[in-house]
Order: sequence, then C-alpha cells, then structure tokens
Amino acid sequence: MIVKQIWTANNYRNFNYLIACAETGEALAVDPLDHEKCLRAARDEGWTITQVLNTHEHRDHTGGNDAVVAQTGAAILAHRNARDSIPGMTRGLAAGDVVKVGKTVELEVLDTPGHTMCHVCLCSHTDQPALFCGDTLFNAGAGNCHNGGHPAELYKTFSEQLARLPASTRIYPGHDYIENNLRFTLDREPDNRDAADMLSRFAGHDPANAVVTTLDIERTINTFFRLSSPTVIARLREAFPDLPDEPDERTVFLKLRELRNKW
Ligand SMILES: [Zn+2]
Repeated sequence: MIVKQIWTANNYRNFNYLIACAETGEALAVDPLDHEKCLRAARDEGWTITQVLNTHEHRDHTGGNDAVVAQTGAAILAHRNARDSIPGMTRGLAAGDVVKVGKTVELEVLDTPGHTMCHVCLCSHTDQPALFCGDTLFNAGAGNCHNGGHPAELYKTFSEQLARLPASTRIYPGHDYIENNLRFTLDREPDNRDAADMLSRFAGHDPANAVVTTLDIERTINTFFRLSSPTVIARLREAFPDLPDEPDERTVFLKLRELRNKW
C-alpha cells in the first residue's frame, strides 16, 4: 500500500489522499476536493484512480467528485446513508465492509458518527495500520459537531472505536489543524510537555510535508484522548464549577468539545 498525502493549500486546510496498490497501480482517492492536484499526482505516479471515497458528505470533501469521475470513471463510495447528500454515489458502505484497491490493498470501513451521522473512516489491513479519519480525528484534536453531527456520538466513536485501534496506527486526517489544536491542548493542559515539544517543532510547519502521527502519539498530545488527566479535569472545573469530583470520561469529552467551539 502506498499513501500519498496531498496538501490542497486552500483556506479550509484540506488534506486529500491517494491510496495505491504497488502491484497494479490502481488508486483510491480520499475526499479529492483538489481534483487537479489529485489527478496530476496520480498521473505523475503512473496510477489509475478507480475509486473515490468520501469520508462524509460535506462539500469540502465531495466537491472534487464530479471532476475526478469525468476524467477517470471512478466509482464513488461513501456511508450508505449518504446517498441523498452525495450525488452519483455508487457503493454504500457499512461497518466491517472491506474496500479493495488493486490486488494488495484492503481497507476496512469503520462507521464513525459524530462529526456528521454519515461519516466513515478507513483502516488499512497492514502490519502498521493506517487510519483515514476525515473530520472525526485530527492531529491533536477532534471534529466539530455543528453541521449535522452529535457530540455524544463523537465521544462513542472515540471511546469505542478509535481508542481501541492498535497504538502504532498512523493517523491521516482530513485537515491540517495541528498547530491550532496543540495550542488548545496546551490551553487545557499547560503542563503537557509532549504537546509543548511538538508545538515548538511544528509551529509554522509546511503542511506539504506534514508530520504523520500515530494513535500512541495522539494519546499524549490530543486533549480528547486525555480525559482522565488531573490537569485537564482541574482546568475544566475552572470553566464548569459544577463538575463532579471524579467526572466520567464522557462528561469531560463533552465539556472539552463545548469549550473548543468557543475557543
Ligand atoms: Zn466536515
């Protein structure tokens, strides 16, 4: 499996991806908003895009579909409940489905509601898994829920699915928000040395050469995985004085999500 991360350099800071089979050169394009860059990258590598996968229905993820399909005739895959919102969808996906690319690549579908209720992530069947997580999980952050999502569902997705993936899983998010997110982590947990180190290394970084984290790293720098940190809880109590003595992780997650919206 070959993964090419494509930085769109647009205002929304989208990342697009090509996932290719090294043997056949067939490729799947994830959220190819910048269709020109995606098509050019495929051409440069000698790959053929045969499938487009939309992690969810938002326009900054689906807006390149038509152009890619016009050029390549690729099939469009997305959450099975997204048929009404994604024109031309040809395959509806459910949890546990496997998307094959060429002969060598297998990507397992995770049904991951929260950012929207029709969101899928893909996790590769490789020795070191790769997670294509759209707007569910970002480097050092979590997706928002205000365009068709639900914070409680996002928490369930984090705790019941993402947190259970292997620690070595590589994280490929739908946007470059790492710098801003690290600042939020440090706002919530000022004594987080890992987040401070990472911010000093990646402040002003070039997203065309973005860092690829792992789930293990996310556990140290992503406040939405640090729900039992005493500092996170103590800081949260400053904003929410009614917080119980030992708040459950769900409560902490939802309060953090709420604060992040206003931050
Ligand atoms: Zn979105």
